Amino acid sequence: MKKIVLFFALLALCNLNAQKRPKLVIGIVVDQMKMEYLYRFQDDFSTNGFKRLMNDGYVFSNTHFNYMPTYTGPGHASIYTGTTPSVHGIVGNDWFNRSTGKDIYCTEDENVKTLGDGDSKEGEMSPKNLQSTTITDELKLATNFKGKVIGLSLKDRGAILPAGHFANWAFWYSKTGSFISSTFYGSKLPDWVTTFNNEKHYATYLNQNWNLLKPIETYNESLPDDNPYEGKLYGAKTPTFPYNLKEMYEKNDAGVLRSTPFGNNILADFAMKAIESEALGKDEITDFLTISFSSTDYVGHVLGPRSMELQDTYLRLDQTLVELLNYLDKNVGKDNYLLFLTADHAGAENVSYLKDNKYNVKNISPREIVANLKKFSNETYGTDLILNYSNFNLFFDKGKMKTSNLELTKVKSDFKSYLLQQDYVKRVYTEEDILASTGNDFYLNFINKGYDVAQNGDLVILDKPGFIEYPSTGTSHGTPYSYDTHVPLIFYGWNIPKGETADRKVITEIAPTLSQKLKIPFTNGTEAEVLLEILDIK
Ligand SMILES: [Zn+2]
Repeated sequence: MKKIVLFFALLALCNLNAQKRPKLVIGIVVDQMKMEYLYRFQDDFSTNGFKRLMNDGYVFSNTHFNYMPTYTGPGHASIYTGTTPSVHGIVGNDWFNRSTGKDIYCTEDENVKTLGDGDSKEGEMSPKNLQSTTITDELKLATNFKGKVIGLSLKDRGAILPAGHFANWAFWYSKTGSFISSTFYGSKLPDWVTTFNNEKHYATYLNQNWNLLKPIETYNESLPDDNPYEGKLYGAKTPTFPYNLKEMYEKNDAGVLRSTPFGNNILADFAMKAIESEALGKDEITDFLTISFSSTDYVGHVLGPRSMELQDTYLRLDQTLVELLNYLDKNVGKDNYLLFLTADHAGAENVSYLKDNKYNVKNISPREIVANLKKFSNETYGTDLILNYSNFNLFFDKGKMKTSNLELTKVKSDFKSYLLQQDYVKRVYTEEDILASTGNDFYLNFINKGYDVAQNGDLVILDKPGFIEYPSTGTSHGTPYSYDTHVPLIFYGWNIPKGETADRKVITEIAPTLSQKLKIPFTNGTEAEVLLEILDIK
């Protein structure tokens, strides 16, 4: 009898130890996903995809990005570092570098080579521009590098930034249809990746038409299939179904797959292969897999938030999630994985659509903005002082200013007055305004958190709400307004209670919450605000 009791006590102890951490953490980012899509498309979702996460997980329905600019690179970096561009340094997808006079791409690295695609430049990437640690880095350190970390996405930046500095691998999709990587991670692609690439999964997807998944009446949450607010995908004659993918592919390259829902499918296929081949979640040491689904962003940019194409992309992603969750249940075990789903930014309404419905907003062309700024400079000082305008940042030519005996403070204040007279401008902030920000000015606070002194401009422009610097079809993002900041956040699985809160949360709370869940150190740049709702100790 005593022996039996002892046996069960030991068993309980083992289980207790086993439950200290999940076997696998899966971070899912859906590129450009607005919170409202979870509600708008809810009736058309299955019960086992998004709805399973919503019903059985914990929903933070009022989660926001807390800085500007709300772009993909900064978004992924902020989710995983638990801090904002002012600290982690990813201040855009690309940004102007004053010392070289050229643009920096967020994950570019000229010191590494492509793995898996010959001489292509698509793999010359690494996390070297990311200045702070990620939650995945901290897991690596906490497990003496025994926990595996792998990052996957259709986009290089969507794979590299989440996986951090110590990742085993990051893989992204290339325009030849392969998943590639760089010599930053290893000297050759793992065999399973080469095998997957040789199977040419992309060809299977591109050999079909893209038709609506469900009967057209299902799509009554969207505008009619043919509407003037949609752009055309890769030379399609009309923005309508069915899309002939084979033709799109033959006229371009396998990169077109990204702009269809099947880009998400091939990524999920690859993710399941990664779990199997790398034995993720198999032993007691926690592994971390990051997956960023970006077809939603490509489709959103071209066709806009109210297109049937976008709705169809979400309905298909819902099915992909069903498949992925079933796979995890079976291969990692229902109670052994902790999953979260969020987005790297949301997106605006199409401006022409708003205008046609009598809201007085407009599209602005960055090229026109620059031309007008140069004109103002020439008229005021007899010389062009504009070095660069990008990501709402204006850079002045300080060398020219010196030779023309112009004071930087005076120039800034002249441009500020000029800009404030423009119909699209809400506010203009100088570097001094931004650095002196006390937190009382709501939008200045967003700009402050997105501003890295060493890398940002002399002035930052805040456009009016509803105005976007983008062409008239499709949509974009980048602002601190709620349509760009409000994203889904759901935690699900290992030690996550069911529930929902509408308390305002910010994106930088994800990483420190994971630190507390996993009992590992915080990422080094975080303010360590946590989501108490899902922690065991309240
Ligand atoms: Zn994005």
